[in-house]
Amino acid sequence: MQSELSIRLNDGGYKNWIKAGFCLQKIRDCLIGFVISEMEKFHQFLLHNNSLLRREICKNSCRPQGTKFQGACPLCEVWKREILKHHTIQNNVIYWGNCSPPLWPKQAWEVAKVYMPHGQANTRGPGKCDVAALLNLIISCDRFEFVERQKVIEVASSDWQVQLMETDGVDALKFTDEIDTGEILSAELELLREWIQELCFTMEEQEALHVQHINSLNTFKEFLKQNKELENVLHKEVQQLYAVEKRWKHGVGTVKGQDGVEWNLEENEGLSTMDGKTGEDDSCRRTCAPGLKHKNEEQE
Ligand SMILES: [Zn+2]
Repeated sequence: MQSELSIRLNDGGYKNWIKAGFCLQKIRDCLIGFVISEMEKFHQFLLHNNSLLRREICKNSCRPQGTKFQGACPLCEVWKREILKHHTIQNNVIYWGNCSPPLWPKQAWEVAKVYMPHGQANTRGPGKCDVAALLNLIISCDRFEFVERQKVIEVASSDWQVQLMETDGVDALKFTDEIDTGEILSAELELLREWIQELCFTMEEQEALHVQHINSLNTFKEFLKQNKELENVLHKEVQQLYAVEKRWKHGVGTVKGQDGVEWNLEENEGLSTMDGKTGEDDSCRRTCAPGLKHKNEEQE
């Protein structure tokens, strides 16, 4: 596993992605205690201000989907109204599917997830979500109004790409002798899992995928071929990704090019034909790790 890691770290683009991701994980770790403490207080505040929320529990097992929460029981309707009252951006898209409303009376974290971007349905606490989700929570919930919001927005929208420094030129085999490879591996696995989840979500939720998503998927498959040990460790997530890809190809299967034109996969020769449609040069695709590439594209 370590020798494969050393080879991966000899790729400047990949190492850059790991470093940026590692920094983001450290920022998240620093925010966790603060965010939990504030959300617990916020939850208590909601319960204190409305006795109905304290007394009742949801008996309908209400389950929202994506941005929709239709057919909520009377109690969950009250919760919805109370939560939205404290949203700093009125009429914002809310990812109700992030949370399990029957848990709102008991778990502050399920309330917190209403203020976050998509993809938080399976996170049961702040330790499992990325820093972008925590920053969005701080920006979107007025519990954090004492924090300088503009600064947080600036941080959240920063270009997180880490510049390569001189030491990056050192052969990774030597370089990794001096640092904790276990910590790098663990950060790398977490980043790859996040990236896979994000791509699965995109394939399941969006009617037309962008060409770069398909290219990212193809790049990732090539990457796995060269990193068999990594593929074994990520077996469960990779299988999930392939299952989602299969459903997507048999379902909508529509791809949107950079020119905005959509075409159907079945009318083309398949995913491998996408490479020529991006206008990117080969060296960029080869050196960019899938997650780094995807995150950059999301920011554009
Ligand atoms: Zn309910």
